[in-house]
Amino acid sequence: MQRDFTLNIYMKLLQALKVKKYTTQTVLDFLLNPQNKVVILRHDVDRKPKNALIMARLENSLGVKASYYFRIVPESYNLEIMNKIAELGHEIGYHYEDVDMVINNYKLRIRNDEDYQKLVDLAYENFYKNLKMLRENFDVKTVCMHGSPRSKYDNKIIWEKYNYRDLEIICEPYFDVDYNEVFYLTDASRAWNNNKVNRRDRVNSDFKFDINSSKEFIKFIQSNNSPLKIMLNVHPHNWTNSMIGWTIIGLWQFIKNIAKRIIIKQSESLHNA
Ligand SMILES: [Zn+2]
Repeated sequence: MQRDFTLNIYMKLLQALKVKKYTTQTVLDFLLNPQNKVVILRHDVDRKPKNALIMARLENSLGVKASYYFRIVPESYNLEIMNKIAELGHEIGYHYEDVDMVINNYKLRIRNDEDYQKLVDLAYENFYKNLKMLRENFDVKTVCMHGSPRSKYDNKIIWEKYNYRDLEIICEPYFDVDYNEVFYLTDASRAWNNNKVNRRDRVNSDFKFDINSSKEFIKFIQSNNSPLKIMLNVHPHNWTNSMIGWTIIGLWQFIKNIAKRIIIKQSESLHNA
């Protein structure tokens, strides 16, 4: 099996974008001043913040800026690393999962609409508290939800009742980007836009491109058929140059993808019932 998701391939990918005159922008920069031919570079740091720092340094060496979204959990949140990434000129944002957090913290059971409203209220309070904490160190202006694949509730349900704009958040990419204009590509589950394993990391879009590997993406960019605007969601924990690291991630992902397929099948059959 040929190795994908190595930092060498990631570097080649960034270089291919440069050759084809794509500008790279953070989510915030794109919102404020969208470029014509652009790749919006977004990183959800689900875990392994050290990988994020390596990626941030690599991008910096190529003059590229990206948005790094951190969770408020020990496997993601690392102030020292976040500071270093911010110093390299990258954007720091909040990768929120407050709905899932309050369900676990309060051991909430949702039996009726009243319980559901309580969940939304508590999740908003939790979101507010975490955002405030992040803002003690970083000027957070954009946020994006974490998929929480095992949770029954989507973390975005907070916004059924509340508005993040009231908290001076100017962008949540799931809501504020037009995916018929911007082609969305994610490496979630190490499977480039694989809806069989991506339960929540999906968007509605008319774009239909089949991309199954980083090499295919590079060829796609070189083909002159790629859209003018692309959002690339790259999870740093998926990428490594170490052979041992690569084997462990590959095995772990294989097991997780089987579990996720089962969850998706179950939720689809519930939905169809
Ligand atoms: Zn995530």
